[in-house]
Amino acid sequence: MTTCKQFLSELNDFLDPQETIDAELRRTLESHLNECPNCWVVCDTTKKTIQIYKGMQPQVIPSDVHDRLLKALQKKMNPPNDKAEGNSSG
Ligand SMILES: [Zn+2]
Repeated sequence: MTTCKQFLSELNDFLDPQETIDAELRRTLESHLNECPNCWVVCDTTKKTIQIYKGMQPQVIPSDVHDRLLKALQKKMNPPNDKAEGNSSG
């Protein structure tokens, strides 16, 4: 039987993907979530907060993706000069 206090004390580990918690414990926590709307709201809010924090961290674009992006932009700005009539959709 999981109490709300117990659930909240495990919530951080439960939400942290790098934290490996016991599979049985995870099941217990998940079943508590289904039964307890209070903890569900807390869990949902915490999850969203974590996502916002993660979104604030600077993302590094891999150099090959950056390169492809640049090339795609250059292609858009300087389209090749072949006359393709009737192909103006785009
Ligand atoms: Zn609860």
